[in-house]
Amino acid sequence: MNLRFQACIAASRRQPVPVHQPAGRPAVYFGKYVFSDEKMRRYLPQKAYSALRLAIRENSSLGRDVADIVANGMKKWAMEMGATHCTHWFQPLTEGTAEKHDAFLELAPNGNAIENFTGSMLVQQEPDASSFPSGGIRSTFEARGYTAWDPASPVFIIGDTLMIPTIFIAYTGEALDYKAPLKKSLSSLNTAATAVARLFDSKVKSVRCNLGWEQEYFLVDEDLFSARPDLVLTGRTLMGHSSAKDQQMDDHYFSAIPDRVQAFMSDLEIRAHELGIPLKTRHNEVAPNQFEVAPVYEECNLSVDHNMLLMSLMRRTARKHGFQCLLHEKPFAGVNGSGKHENWSLQTDAGTMLLAPGQTAEENLRFAVFVVETLMGVWKHNGLLKASIMSATNEHRLGAGEAPPAIISAFIGKQLEAFLDHIETNPTEALFSIRDKRGVQLGIPQIPKLIIHETDRNRTSPFAFTGNRFEFRAVGSSANCASALIVINTAVAEALTSFSARVEKRGGGIDAVLETLREDIRASKSIRFSGNGYSAEWQQEAKQRGLDCEKNTTLVYDRYLDEDSVQMFESMSVMNRNELKARNEIKWETYHKKIQIEARVMGDLCLNHIIPVATRYQTALVDNVCKINQVYDAAEAAKLCSYNKTLISQINEYLNHIATKTEEMNGKRRVVENIENEREKAIAYHDVILPLLHDIRFNVDKLELIVEDEAWPLPKYRELMFIR
Ligand code: ADP
Ligand code: MG
Repeated sequence: MNLRFQACIAASRRQPVPVHQPAGRPAVYFGKYVFSDEKMRRYLPQKAYSALRLAIRENSSLGRDVADIVANGMKKWAMEMGATHCTHWFQPLTEGTAEKHDAFLELAPNGNAIENFTGSMLVQQEPDASSFPSGGIRSTFEARGYTAWDPASPVFIIGDTLMIPTIFIAYTGEALDYKAPLKKSLSSLNTAATAVARLFDSKVKSVRCNLGWEQEYFLVDEDLFSARPDLVLTGRTLMGHSSAKDQQMDDHYFSAIPDRVQAFMSDLEIRAHELGIPLKTRHNEVAPNQFEVAPVYEECNLSVDHNMLLMSLMRRTARKHGFQCLLHEKPFAGVNGSGKHENWSLQTDAGTMLLAPGQTAEENLRFAVFVVETLMGVWKHNGLLKASIMSATNEHRLGAGEAPPAIISAFIGKQLEAFLDHIETNPTEALFSIRDKRGVQLGIPQIPKLIIHETDRNRTSPFAFTGNRFEFRAVGSSANCASALIVINTAVAEALTSFSARVEKRGGGIDAVLETLREDIRASKSIRFSGNGYSAEWQQEAKQRGLDCEKNTTLVYDRYLDEDSVQMFESMSVMNRNELKARNEIKWETYHKKIQIEARVMGDLCLNHIIPVATRYQTALVDNVCKINQVYDAAEAAKLCSYNKTLISQINEYLNHIATKTEEMNGKRRVVENIENEREKAIAYHDVILPLLHDIRFNVDKLELIVEDEAWPLPKYRELMFIR
C-alpha cells in the first residue's frame, strides 16, 4: 500500500486527544506563567517595583543596581514555578522568534553547584548573532549584536525556561529585528498623537496604540502532511488538483467545529491563557480546514509579542493533537488563503478612544482629525504600506479574488464620508453656531453611534474603518504583525506631526484646526474608496488617482528606499537609511530563497515522484494495448484500444511538458543563482522561475486527473482538506 493510503487510513482513525484542564476557571489560571504586575508587586521590594513601573511607563532603561534586584525577584518566582533556564527571546528578521537557553546552574569557586540569575543576564546579552540576517549591517568580523530586555513586555515561563522579551540590535545600535523599530514607531506616535490630542484636551499625558489581531490558519492531519514533501519543506502544496468539493457550498464558515479540532482549540486556549494571551474568539473560516483565532486587543507592542508567541504555541499544540498547523498564506490553490487582520486604534491615558466618535462637538472634531490624519498617513505612504506586507508567500493572495487587493485604499463608510464632506464643504461659520451655554457646537447632528453598522462594511477594502478603529486586512498570516505596524505608526506619526505644525503656523485655535483639517480631507481623498476592490475598473481608477498599483513583490520593496519613505523614517527617528537598505537586502534575499526552495522541491517531486509514477502507469497502458493486439485482429484491437491509446498520448504530452519545463527551470536557476545583486536576483526569481513553477504545476494537476488513483503518491486535496 502506498504511503498516501497509509496516511489516509491513519488520519481517519485518529480520535480527539483529551485536553488537560488546569485547576480553576480561566480567570484563575490566566497569566499563571507571566511575571505580571501583581507578581512584580509580590516579588519585588517596593522601591524596585516603583522603579520598574516607571521604566515601563516611560520606556526608559533600568539602572544596573535596580536590575539586579528585579532579577532576584524574578528568579525567586521562576524557581518556584520550576524554571531552571532562562533565555532572551527576540524577533530577528527571519520568520518567527529566536532563543538560546542558559541554565541558572553555575559552579561556585568551591565546586558547589548554585543557581544564579543576575541583573546583567536579565538586561543585556550578546548572542553570537553572526548567523542572523543583517543585510550587511554587520560584517562577520564585527559580528556582535546584542539583545536588550524590553520591560514593557513581561517575562514568562515556557516549560522549564524563563523567557525574556528583548530587542535585538547591532553593536552600532542599528536594529536587527522587528521589535526595536516597532518601539521607536510607538514612541513617535505617542509624541505626535499626544500633541494633537492636547489641542482638544490639555489633560492628555500620553497616547497608546492598541492592536487586536485576527489570526487565520489551516490544520492538516500530521500523517497526510508528512506524505507531502512540498508541505513539509515549503509550507504550501506546490501541486494538487482542486477537490470536487471545497468551499463552494459556504458550509465551513462558522460551522460546527470537528471534535479533534475543538480539542486542539481548547488546548491552545488554555496554554495561551496561562501565558497571559487573552484569546477570545475561535471559529471555522471559509476554506475547508481553515480556522481563525483572535484575542482581546492589547497595547500594540505586547500584542505583537503575543501574536508571535501564539504562532509558536499553535504549531506545538497542533502536533500534540496529530495536526500540523499551517500558517502559510496560501497552502492550497483554489481556496481562500490565510491572513491576519490588524485592528489598530489610539487611546489616551484616560482611556478615550481617539478614533471613536464622541458626544460633543469638540470630541467629534477630534475624532475627524484622527481619522483624517490616519488617512493622510496611509495615502501618502500607500506603496510603502503595501511593501510592508508583501512577501513571496503573501503574494499568492494579493489581487486574487480575496483580501487583500494589490492596491491599498481605505474604506470609511457612508456616514463618515458624509461627515467629512460636511466639514470640508461648509465654511467655519456654518459648522459652528452658538447654540447653548456650552459654547460652540458642530453643526452636524447625531454622528455618533450611527456610524458603524455591520451592514456598512466593505470586505474588499484592505484598510477599513470599523467603528472605533481601523482594520488593516492585507497582512499575511505568517507575518510578524510589526512589519506593517512600523509603517502605519510612523506614517500616522508623521501626518499628526505635520498637522500640529500647520495648526500652529495658522495661529492655533479652532479655526486653524478646521482649516488644516479641510486641507487634509481634500488631500487624502484619493485613498478613500468604497467600491469593489477586486474590480477591473478600480485598477484603472487607482492608477489615475496615483495610488501604487505594482503587484510584483520584488519591485514593491523599492518603496522602502523612496526618498519620501527614508525621510519619514528618519524624521520620526524610527530607522535610518542604512537600516532600511539592510532590511531590503534581507527582504530580497528571503524572497529569492523561498522561490529557490520551491523550485528545488518542485524539481524533486517531478523527477522522483510524478514522472516515474505516470510513466509506470503509461507502461501498464501500453502493455494492455500490446496484449489486446496479440489477442484480437487489427480492426477489433483498434476499437478496443482507442481509449487507452488516447490516454497514452495524453500522458505523453504532459510528461514531456513537465520534463522539459523542469529541465528548463533547473537550467535557468543555475543562471539566476549567479546574479550577485540581491534585488536583481529576487526579480529574476520572480520573473523567470515563478512562471515555470506555475506552468509545471498546471501540467502535473492535469496528470493527477488521469493517472490511476492507487498509483498517485501524494495525498490529494480532497484528502488533505477534510478533517472529520
Ligand atoms: P470582526 O472584525 O471579525 O468583527 P471582532 O469585532 O471580534 O472581529 O474584533 C476583532 C479584533 O479587533 C479583536 O482582537 C478585538 O479585540 C479587536 N478590537 C476591538 N476593538 C478594538 C479597538 N478599539 N482597537 C483595537 N482593536 C480592537
Ligand atoms: Mg475583523
